[in-house]
Amino acid sequence: MEDEPVAGNLLPIKRFQRRLEDFVCAHCGNEVKGHGYTNHCPRCLYSLHVDHNPGDRANNCGGLMRPIGLELKRDDYIIVSRCEKCGAIKRNKAAVDDNREDLIRLSKLPVK
Ligand SMILES: [Zn+2]
Ligand SMILES: [Zn+2]
Repeated sequence: MEDEPVAGNLLPIKRFQRRLEDFVCAHCGNEVKGHGYTNHCPRCLYSLHVDHNPGDRANNCGGLMRPIGLELKRDDYIIVSRCEKCGAIKRNKAAVDDNREDLIRLSKLPVK
């Protein structure tokens, strides 16, 4: 995969950095093929608390983010997750390969 050119330090902090990485889901053990835009598991929708902004890996909490709800923004599904370690709430765009049944099930849960 090609790296996108970065224009030195002149740009403000990028809000979204694309990373391609494979990882093993810390919740269900699913081997996830990273495609750069998500760090959550498409099977159980759990993720890890590693970002301040999506993709920056700047948070060293490392807690398991439990999916607690789903929001619809325009045409995007946004998964709302809460860190089981520090309680932070994060929102992540759902990916096309996410488990649709789980997403629909999530959408019926109230966001606490
Ligand atoms: Zn999983
Ligand atoms: Zn956390």
